[in-house]
Amino acid sequence: MTGMDWGVATWGLTGLDRLGVGLSGVASALPLLATAGAPIRDPTGLDPTRPGFALLAIGVALMGACVGSFLNVVAWRLPRQESVVLPPSHCPHCGTRLAWFENIPVLGWLALGGHCRHCGAPISPRYPAVELLCAGLWVAVLLATPPLMGPHASPALGGSSAGAAALSWLGGGPIDWWLVAAGWLLASLLLPMVLIDLDHLWLPEPLCRWGLVLGLVLTAIAGYRQGAAVGGAQLLDHLIAAAAGLLAMEGLSALAEKLMGKPALGLGDAKLTALLGAWLGLYAMALAVFLAFLSGALLGSALMLVGRLKRGQPFPFGPYLAAGGLAVWIGGAPWWGQLLGAAFGGGRL
Ligand SMILES: [Zn+2]
Repeated sequence: MTGMDWGVATWGLTGLDRLGVGLSGVASALPLLATAGAPIRDPTGLDPTRPGFALLAIGVALMGACVGSFLNVVAWRLPRQESVVLPPSHCPHCGTRLAWFENIPVLGWLALGGHCRHCGAPISPRYPAVELLCAGLWVAVLLATPPLMGPHASPALGGSSAGAAALSWLGGGPIDWWLVAAGWLLASLLLPMVLIDLDHLWLPEPLCRWGLVLGLVLTAIAGYRQGAAVGGAQLLDHLIAAAAGLLAMEGLSALAEKLMGKPALGLGDAKLTALLGAWLGLYAMALAVFLAFLSGALLGSALMLVGRLKRGQPFPFGPYLAAGGLAVWIGGAPWWGQLLGAAFGGGRL
């Protein structure tokens, strides 16, 4: 396999037709998964109608933008096997180091008018766009209903201190900051993978591997905080999800290769699906993969209609998987199950 085959979906028109058949197969299998898993709904506990929530959201957006700025650097340097810490940010064209104010997310780019102050080389608007996206995702995670927690979620932060009162003013309470932090981690892990897949049609092995391990560790901690029984069941579900995700996507890829005579999904896509399984569990992962195929098929055919994508031309599938995973994390598996169930023939998926 050449480097180009990694993390790539090569869908021709006939491929899309077959995808439709595949999608209906996945859709009919989902109700089985739903009944197998317990209903899970665990909001973080934050309430956007609280007076201080806007303040909290602004602070979190600023943090998210700074992290997004760092993730831009990761997405640029990791595929080039450069250190993500040293040297400090510089213009990739002339090598001039960025002044401190040029490193300020979004505003730095605006102040420069999108050009290097030394050599005038254009700086891609993708940089501020990623910073804004990361800021938005970090705020969205505040209000997420992630599937990571078990059925008896008990928010960690409660108590009766002044701190708890302040937290209550900021966003309601008790707030499970632990769960919020897990969501920030997941978003910040997936974002550079998306960017690298878009640039290089490749999902880096270390990010897949360590992301999967991190997901399992967090799952175990989240589960065992609610008792040994919940912890054991939850860890098992997420372990099975990771294995099933890897095998299902590899099987699908092999099948597509048989039918179309060329690889349709890269090994990276299977590994990213396993990562999502480790974080989301079986039911939520299935929803995320379903959303990925649905959005990939819709956007792929739209791009073909307007001539931006040629038949059989490879395009990265990692971004769709990542978007599906984050959508399920933020919206919650029950909400997506209901929505997709209603859209595809009634009933909850
Ligand atoms: Zn320059």
